[in-house]
Amino acid sequence: MRALICGAGIAGLTLAWHLERAGWHVEMVERAPEFRTGGYMIDFYGAGYEVAERMGLAARLHERRYPFTELDYVNRDGLRTSGFVLPPSFREVVSLLRGDLARTVAEEVRAPVRYACTVEAVHQDGQDVTVTLTGGLRRTVDLLVGADGAHSRVRELVFGPEDGYVRYLGHHVAACILTDRELNAQVGQRYQMLTVPGLMAGAYALRQDRLALLFLRREADPSLPADPAATLRDHFGELGWILPAALPRLPADLYYDQVTQVRMESWSRGRVVLLGDACQAVSLFAAHGASMAMAAAWILADELRGGDLAVALARYEERMRPTIAEVQELGRRFIEWMAPSSRLRITVRDWTFRLATLPGADRLFLNFLTPGGHNLIRRRVDQLAGG
Ligand SMILES: Cc1cc2nc3c(=O)[nH]c(=O)nc-3n(C[C@H](O)[C@H](O)[C@H](O)COP(=O)(O)OP(=O)(O)OC[C@H]3O[C@@H](n4cnc5c(N)ncnc54)[C@H](O)[C@@H]3O)c2cc1C
Repeated sequence: MRALICGAGIAGLTLAWHLERAGWHVEMVERAPEFRTGGYMIDFYGAGYEVAERMGLAARLHERRYPFTELDYVNRDGLRTSGFVLPPSFREVVSLLRGDLARTVAEEVRAPVRYACTVEAVHQDGQDVTVTLTGGLRRTVDLLVGADGAHSRVRELVFGPEDGYVRYLGHHVAACILTDRELNAQVGQRYQMLTVPGLMAGAYALRQDRLALLFLRREADPSLPADPAATLRDHFGELGWILPAALPRLPADLYYDQVTQVRMESWSRGRVVLLGDACQAVSLFAAHGASMAMAAAWILADELRGGDLAVALARYEERMRPTIAEVQELGRRFIEWMAPSSRLRITVRDWTFRLATLPGADRLFLNFLTPGGHNLIRRRVDQLAGG
């Protein structure tokens, strides 16, 4: 069997890993000119982590992880106003760069990746699917997989424009990595965040004097600015803390996007199937997207072993959907905690954090913060369909 996977991200690479071990001939195309490193810090756990363990990747992930036990909210002078120490039961969460997770999978994938390449046209005739790639190259395969993220090109070509599927969550997000010894030392290896109504900036010190920066901005208009770095400087430039030093130095590869979820009635059409954020994006507010992408790739590969493509694609969707709906709801509930919209909400958050430091209150607090989140973090990949 032959598969073409569009998008060499976490979902696409994980599927390639599994399909090639099941004897498929796999080829990948990736829009970026080269392998995408760095990115932003993610928390990785739950069903996706279990898939990584089954793939034998856990040791490498632990080498690449960062210690994350504490989150501090700071004011414009960099002084702590509130915060949270992760209870021991949550320390199984692996915090690492998105690029390091993808690289860990990519190192074990043999399928060739054609960079600076995308899908230009798709034609299905029931027997197979013919895909036209950048530059007019053609591939005829048994299965085309759109693992090309929330703004999926494959989805647009086969299912229609993204406004039918992408739900905007009222925020813009930006992230980047800077190299700066002083800022690295100032922030240290604990997550620091500064929030004012509608704006959140976060920083975490990485190895090699680097610093991961994250920005969230409440914005009614989903359209992206022409100059994202200038927009960040306009909105965050007066907030103090490390921002006056960091903002003039935003790198050219600054990540900037809308915060979205993707909801679709069907994840496949004929011999074309969507995977990961392309069909099930839960948003950064849910902090589960990478985990869900790997779990979905594992389930899709598992179902494809059965041989009947139509049955496999239907079963894959059936098994993933209930958990995705749950995680998406969790993400929407978390918006006000991560990016509070008013001073009152910031005060409520700070007091809740203070109360959570009382003995025994941590678990109660986490369930209050993300009802059901505690269970989702522990859900095994085989239990996904159970909801
Ligand atoms: C700031 C931020 C923080 C996050 N934090 C967490 C977290 O804590 N925990 C967590 O689990 N998840 C987190 N996520 C979500 C997580 O990163 C995603 O859900 C996950 O990366 C989805 O994997 P994917 O492979 O489906 O998509 P992606 O990782 O987006 O990969 C898609 C790939 O397709 C490529 N591509 C795009 N368009 C095309 C095209 N037209 N042709 C070819 N290739 C294309 C892209 O270059 C990319 O390599 C976070 C996301 C953000 C933005």
